[in-house]
Amino acid sequence: MSTTPVTLTFAAALLLSLLLKFWLATRQMRHVATHRDRVPAAFASAVTPEAHRRAADYTLAKGRFGLLTTAVGSAVLLGWTLLGGLDALNQVLLGALQPRFGDMAYQLALLAGFALIGSALDLPFELYATFRIEQRYGFNRMTPRIFITDLLKNLAVGALIGLPLAALILWIMGAAGSLWWLWAWGAWMAFNLLLLVLYPTLIAPLFNKFEPLADAALKERVQALMQRCGFAAKGLFVMDGSRRSAHANAYFTGLGAAKRVVFFDTLLQRLSPGEVEAVLAHELGHFSHRHVQKRIAGIFAFSLVGLALLGWMSGQSSFYEGLGVVPNLGAPNDALALLLFMLALPPFTFFIAPLMANLSRRHEFEADAYACAQASGQDLANALLKLHEDNATTLTPDPVYVRFYYSHPPASERLAALAESTR
Ligand SMILES: [Zn+2]
Repeated sequence: MSTTPVTLTFAAALLLSLLLKFWLATRQMRHVATHRDRVPAAFASAVTPEAHRRAADYTLAKGRFGLLTTAVGSAVLLGWTLLGGLDALNQVLLGALQPRFGDMAYQLALLAGFALIGSALDLPFELYATFRIEQRYGFNRMTPRIFITDLLKNLAVGALIGLPLAALILWIMGAAGSLWWLWAWGAWMAFNLLLLVLYPTLIAPLFNKFEPLADAALKERVQALMQRCGFAAKGLFVMDGSRRSAHANAYFTGLGAAKRVVFFDTLLQRLSPGEVEAVLAHELGHFSHRHVQKRIAGIFAFSLVGLALLGWMSGQSSFYEGLGVVPNLGAPNDALALLLFMLALPPFTFFIAPLMANLSRRHEFEADAYACAQASGQDLANALLKLHEDNATTLTPDPVYVRFYYSHPPASERLAALAESTR
């Protein structure tokens, strides 16, 4: 391994991001532990000391586990790159497959082999998070049987969708000349749009049951709300989220006229009809403010910049060598370049996480204000409190941690803003 500017830049980003992650996580844990025994004054009438302590303990348990996964994840990343893991995998598959089966088969095998090894490395952590942490706090509803069938279904769906997509991108990289990244971007965007359409009707039903919302009174209420908001959807569905977890949620999927509203059964069990309406009004607020379109446009722009960068770097041998891989001489380097780029990017993009989180929190405030105008702000506040308690979300996060990571404003800020707009 030679030390090049690429190596140094990557190592520095990895080290800096790692230090920052640990600093933020320990801040958060210290803050939550310090406030564990006292419910903040604003919540004193709504939250019991037991619920508050449970939320603190859950946050701390996840925080400790997060430190471990961050450390192991960085070690694995180093293993793949500078310590030569990807290079070794590449040499084995190149020698075994390329002479007999050709470039495409070898490259697809490299992508698939990498994905399989990565999933196998993640598996013990997923098992621990599900069957230890979530279990201990009463959230887990997953049986080992569901866990295994989910795993197999994910593998099958991943192979069925991922391999043809990978083959298409690799073909473009090999055939489209120096502007391949522009064509690949087009293909990638088309694929994402297709997935938005296919996911709700073809993929999600593989994992969950969706039944039309049966509660006539609630249905009427929800439809009246959607009409008020000028929102057309193809149907209201209840999903058996309780099959896997006690966490509750509601969401929209699909595009255009094929949009569906999906309620987790856990949400309907827990919230009153007025509260469900308020939560849905908040979701409609995201649509009314075009948050979804803005996010998609942002992802499209970000992908274009990323692919242009990859287009440039994949032609430089220092990109491969600096990240611990000897580029192929008699075979294409496209799959290698894709993998290395995917591995090397996160330590850099980590530093723009606070910008994304900030934008997302602004959108949440806008959606809350919309919900106050279209439904009851008091109901939304009650629903938020219930969901916080049910999900054991801490009410006392560290302010710096919030600025960096939180996609939703902490409960105290949201409730204060709601009180302001319902006054
Ligand atoms: Zn929201």
